Amino acid sequence: MSGKNCWEVKNCGREPGGAKASELGVCPAATDKSVNGLNGGKNGGRTCWYIAGTFCGGLVQGSMAQKLSNCMECEFFKQVAREEKADLVESKAVLACMRR
Ligand code: SF4
Repeated sequence: MSGKNCWEVKNCGREPGGAKASELGVCPAATDKSVNGLNGGKNGGRTCWYIAGTFCGGLVQGSMAQKLSNCMECEFFKQVAREEKADLVESKAVLACMRR
């Protein structure tokens, strides 16, 4: 299943070429190629909760450990979990990709 990326749902404009990218910077979720394709997303667009330093809410979100509790409450995370169901990529698989 190829679903929407976080920046398409949240309209943050922090993806490359996005409305706020040149002013505020491009978010690492939109450029992290190590997780490209996971949960059907472009780069980290559907695994953003694993990526350190994302810009959700206009603030740098810190490490995965620091931001995970917030991300678990995020409507976009819940949407991806609903859409992917049993196919939702597990954390160990994502972390393995990131270590490559
Ligand atoms: S993680 Fe947040 S700030 Fe970053 S691209 Fe996704 S929605 Fe935008």
